[in-house]
Amino acid sequence: MGSKSYDILVIGGGHAGIEAAYAAAQMDCSVGLITMDKNALGRMSCNPAIGGTAKGHLVREIDALGGLMGKIADSTGIQFRMLNKSKGPAVWSPRCQSDRSLYSEVALKFVQSQENIEIIENSVTEILIENNVVTGIQTGAGEAFLARSVILSAGTFMNAIMHTGLKGISGGRFGEKPSTGITEGLVRHGFISGRLKTGTPPRLKKDSINFSILEEQPGDVNPQPFSHFTNKDDFPALPQVSCHITYTNPEVHKILEKGFDRSPMFTGLISGVGPRYCPSIEDKVVRFSDKEKHQLFLEPEGLYSDQIYLNGFATSLPEEIQLEALHKIKGLEEVEMVRPGYAVEYDFFPPHQVDSTLETKLVKGLYFAGQVNGTSGYEEAAAQGLIAGINAALKLQEKKEFVLKRSEAYIGVLIDDLVTKSTDEPYRMFTSRAEHRLLLRQDNADRRLMKYGKEFCLIPPEHFEKVEIREQKIVSSTNACRKLKFQAKDINYFLDSKSSSRIDSSETVANLCRRPELSLKELLNLNGFSDLEEIRLLLEDEVALKQVEIDLKYEGYLKRQEEMIAKLERYEDSKIPLTLNYFNLKALSTESREKLQKYKPRSIGQASRIQGVTPSDISVLLVYLKK
Ligand SMILES: Cc1cc2nc3c(=O)[nH]c(=O)nc-3n(C[C@H](O)[C@H](O)[C@H](O)COP(=O)(O)OP(=O)(O)OC[C@H]3O[C@@H](n4cnc5c(N)ncnc54)[C@H](O)[C@@H]3O)c2cc1C
Repeated sequence: MGSKSYDILVIGGGHAGIEAAYAAAQMDCSVGLITMDKNALGRMSCNPAIGGTAKGHLVREIDALGGLMGKIADSTGIQFRMLNKSKGPAVWSPRCQSDRSLYSEVALKFVQSQENIEIIENSVTEILIENNVVTGIQTGAGEAFLARSVILSAGTFMNAIMHTGLKGISGGRFGEKPSTGITEGLVRHGFISGRLKTGTPPRLKKDSINFSILEEQPGDVNPQPFSHFTNKDDFPALPQVSCHITYTNPEVHKILEKGFDRSPMFTGLISGVGPRYCPSIEDKVVRFSDKEKHQLFLEPEGLYSDQIYLNGFATSLPEEIQLEALHKIKGLEEVEMVRPGYAVEYDFFPPHQVDSTLETKLVKGLYFAGQVNGTSGYEEAAAQGLIAGINAALKLQEKKEFVLKRSEAYIGVLIDDLVTKSTDEPYRMFTSRAEHRLLLRQDNADRRLMKYGKEFCLIPPEHFEKVEIREQKIVSSTNACRKLKFQAKDINYFLDSKSSSRIDSSETVANLCRRPELSLKELLNLNGFSDLEEIRLLLEDEVALKQVEIDLKYEGYLKRQEEMIAKLERYEDSKIPLTLNYFNLKALSTESREKLQKYKPRSIGQASRIQGVTPSDISVLLVYLKK
């Protein structure tokens, strides 16, 4: 009997893998999702939470493109909060605590709802490649599966070792086996691999914590869903719970220090590089030795779970040190540890080896997505999975590739950063990485991206129609606000009440709306404006109203960003063939020649973002391309 064959094989059903499989299947491809355990689909290896600063933006974008993460998060969230609300709308970020086991159950339901996906529970040990073209995969038992494309999304599992104190055992995640063979096979085909590490805190027994003396952190009173498709009338779907806050103290730090001589981090047992911005507690004690305390969050692992996740206390110190230190933390004096914290070290492929479609430059039809590209985080992984799945399907259907620009989406920034800067430490998304962040807000993801989701049949046309109708409403109401005027005598009393300066003669709604102390809703409810049909309809649509208000309040800044993007665009549109041999361009500096040959940028814009490539190198490239 011949080997079973698919259009696309996805290796690993983590956050990247499920998005890749689901998108490609919706795009009419037959997909084999080969993963070690189908009940671990979309498993949250670390914190039971989705979103947060910049990550929340990614989730909203994934959702606007037709991905899964926002929908799963909405139906399994047990606490929703909008972060950074005291700051400008560019950095507002949605976050939720999720019920960990329910998250995987719902992920499985979504995947099983797609007829084009077959889940295969097995472990891949080799990716089959012939003449630099991928042909399929092979399992440990020697069984082969054929495919025209393969997406590798094996997460933290490749040659993974888990460390607690001086104990190191093979495994990709607590209780799960590592993945072996894939790295070595790809290295034989010319790929470069590296080693990274990440860590997780201990899990605590809920009943053994004295919550009554701790600061409570409830969710938002009026929680907002991630997904544009979630019916607000049925949201939130689950009862909502609180988190709690506590702190370490000097005594805790002293106990932790006692274990440093048995820390795999400090004894050199771990060679992989860890995330700088998400340090372990032992790292924090060393790096911020002047700090007397560090904040910790006690996060429920689920609605009915008896486990609590201690956010901020990731550690790989010996188990007995972890427990001794925990007992000196307020509220945890009697705590029982269900499972100690540990670090995991794993293989990754530095991401300059993939193109902006996430297809590898070396092997046609082979895509890398998620943690294997050196990123860290569920949201970063899901975003890449979605893009890899879409592009793998498009390529098989001989359609134009899909690459998001930096000016269009955080997903564009993420992939462009990976491709042009590569990474030698776990990469996570921050709002500061996006230079056009005022345009890339979480609140306008649908306005920016849903057209693509519709184009790829990932968004139902009837839903997109609603978005288009709303867009027309936003544009026409914004214009109306530029024309509607207040006379001084009709508005000055109101301005006084808001401690806002008076006007002399007349002023438009748009101009007054720019004042931070005035809201558009209040202004439109004055002067009989709400009697106008257009304004009445706007006031009834909270989402459109917010968009008009942001568009007016930040008009000047938004215009400047748009002008800057237009200027940069011609560089992004100046394409460079991937086959260009930079070693033949003698006018380039030696450093640039090497870097450009390594990164193989696809546009002048990308080339200009590679560290070490100077403006004069860019001029050389421009002249060459003109010729
Ligand atoms: C201990 C630990 C701590 C972490 N801490 C943090 C943190 O603090 N902050 C943060 O942002 N992120 C953290 N992460 C990372 C986070 O879990 C990942 O970023 C995210 O899960 C990556 O998604 P992924 O889809 O790439 O891979 P994963 O979620 O790891 O999923 C990979 C999937 O592939 C399957 N698989 C692997 N190899 C094979 C194979 N050969 N054959 C078949 N199936 C295979 C696995 O079974 C798994 O289902 C941590 C991870 C771990 C394990």
